[in-house]
Amino acid sequence: MILAQLPRFHLSILAKPSFALSSSHFNFLNPKPSVAVARTIFSFASKSSLATVEPIPLSVSDSSDLDDAPVEISLDKLFIPPETDISGEDSASLTARILKGSNIVLSKYARDAQVVQADYVKSSVKTEDCPADGLPEFALVGRSNVGKSSLLNSLVRRKRLALTSKKPGKTQCINHFRINDKWYLVDLPGYGYASAPHELKQDWNKFTKDYFLNRSTLVSVFLLVDASIPVKPIDLEYASWLGQNQVPMTLIFTKCDKRKKKKNGGKKPEENIKEFQDLIQGFFETTPPWIMTSSVTNQGRDEILLHMAQLRNYWLKH
Ligand code: GDP
Repeated sequence: MILAQLPRFHLSILAKPSFALSSSHFNFLNPKPSVAVARTIFSFASKSSLATVEPIPLSVSDSSDLDDAPVEISLDKLFIPPETDISGEDSASLTARILKGSNIVLSKYARDAQVVQADYVKSSVKTEDCPADGLPEFALVGRSNVGKSSLLNSLVRRKRLALTSKKPGKTQCINHFRINDKWYLVDLPGYGYASAPHELKQDWNKFTKDYFLNRSTLVSVFLLVDASIPVKPIDLEYASWLGQNQVPMTLIFTKCDKRKKKKNGGKKPEENIKEFQDLIQGFFETTPPWIMTSSVTNQGRDEILLHMAQLRNYWLKH
């Protein structure tokens, strides 16, 4: 059943890493009754315990550009979900379990990933006003114009669902969309509007930070970063704040189809992504999960949904 949902993998193995890991390397065994514990469950092996292994070269691009060298991901940069034991795997079977265009290993919890139904539920201005039914949720956040609405529409396969959160009065709200009557996608206000008044910026900051810190059903923040342009300090600041406050975070690199190098600062999406990851390394004890996406080609769509499914199903069980 799970196999039917698997995306195609494009992996090229140039080196055979030797590794012997057991679940004891991972910090997943605690149950998760509270927010504080939730912030630790998706952390995994410490850097030092994996630092000696060779990298797994991994093709992370859909592009047929011949100058695209495979991107290498070392074992310590993989995201290995809770209760996922990779100790018995050779490099070929491990690479086959990595979601395409990401560093995420597929786990036994990756099921029920499809979106069958999506409904706008409500817009809240405070964390306390958010839905109280206890369903797990994922929050999408990013700089204005990063492609958040396009991604939301592509995830739910509806052309205009995200328009709801762009209506006057709702752009500064926490907007909840219920998926399959089982979980929520949450659209948070975009940040970095050049023209917004200072007080307004401060206000958004205050309430989104309160939401991140106090929303007990928040499984992971999905921080959207535009991969078609050079790294922006404001995105680094956001990632650093999430890291320092141990808020679980997945990086979604958007617009990975845009490959016009000159126009976009001379770098390819893969190079901008690598630079971003290098710059945020110090903010996190372990490498956060990341996925390359494009709302034009739908790259990364199924991978995001599988990643959300495995985080969610684990969260529900604990
Ligand atoms: P938001 O402000 O973050 O909600 O961003 P939008 O979803 O409204 O997108 C902003 C602009 O970027 C629009 O012109 C989109 O058509 C464009 N865009 C969004 N996603 C992609 C993508 O994956 N690839 C490309 N090439 N353009 C995109």
